[in-house]
Amino acid sequence: MLLDTYGRTATDLRVSLTDRCNLRCTYCMPEEGLAWLAKPELLTDDEVVRLVRVAVVELGVTEVRFTGGEPLLRPGLVGIVARCAELGPRPQLSLTTNGIGLERVAGQLREAGLDRVNVSLDTVDPEMFHRITRRRRHGDVLRGLAAAREAGLTPVKVNAVLLPGLNEAEAPDLLAWALEHEYELRFIEQMPLDAQHGWQRDRMVTAGDILASLRTRFTLTAEDDGERGAAPAERWLVDGGPARVGVIASVTRPFCRACDRTRLTADGQVRTCLFAREESDLRGALRAGATDAELAARWRAATWGKKAGSGLDEPEFRQPSRPMSAIGG
Ligand code: SAM
Ligand code: SF4
Repeated sequence: MLLDTYGRTATDLRVSLTDRCNLRCTYCMPEEGLAWLAKPELLTDDEVVRLVRVAVVELGVTEVRFTGGEPLLRPGLVGIVARCAELGPRPQLSLTTNGIGLERVAGQLREAGLDRVNVSLDTVDPEMFHRITRRRRHGDVLRGLAAAREAGLTPVKVNAVLLPGLNEAEAPDLLAWALEHEYELRFIEQMPLDAQHGWQRDRMVTAGDILASLRTRFTLTAEDDGERGAAPAERWLVDGGPARVGVIASVTRPFCRACDRTRLTADGQVRTCLFAREESDLRGALRAGATDAELAARWRAATWGKKAGSGLDEPEFRQPSRPMSAIGG
């Protein structure tokens, strides 16, 4: 098991498959100038599957989510999913994607064993999409979403980040659109993980702002009685249900005490937290011939050192040196 000194057990693994992306979301990447990892630094497909196997078979991980960068840019994605689906005990397999190209592969991913998908979309307006992502791909995302629903990758979740001065007033429109298309919408508070270090706490749209804005058009009823366990999203029934909306208040109401995450970067580093400043190298050990038991021991040792929280509220907080696209969101 992956235990830490605060009594938490990590069972949910996020695997970044690439640091590259075909969008340039302002809250994640700079317009240009971000250096990519070189190919030899990336884990190969075999190495990814080997480390996922160590996590699942030796360390009790039960959920594996593929992310990035943009995971659909990884040529071997379908094969990686298929091989992870053969592991015993079979983990839950999901994908976080910007949806571009999902139209083409949703069916293959489902057949390979993918259970669910989260598609990131921050706006219903193609022009606003261009301002936020710096690319004109809104239609591709909508088609990707529809294909995911048709392929049975359900419930299809949509992740949205609201940004001051851009889409901050869009929460009710996004929810109306998600209800119409039967997508489960979750808002994520903007975090200080952008490559250009431009995040400002007093300029972010908070969970409180989002809920107030949604309540101008919808009736929201708390679903969880304040008990959300390890689930980061606080969920609300919309107009009495059964439709729901989630809010992930990573900054203003962090869920660190119940965190069950562990992360593997595309270059084979274990991170215990999005905001961690330390990483533990598994790639080096793996390429030096470590056994599964030795890799598991390294992963356990890294987890034992996991900090109590993100440190966001501490005066000495410093943003991690790698941006979200390189860590894996
Ligand atoms: N490219 C894929 C996508 O966009 O879904 C996967 C990687 S992306 C880094 C994963 C998630 O992180 C997305 O939902 C994105 O909106 C979110 N994200 C990126 N930067 C963020 C930030 N600074 N604060 C909050 N969420 C962020
Ligand atoms: Fe790419 Fe996802 Fe980052 Fe947007 S949030 S730039 S889609 S990795």
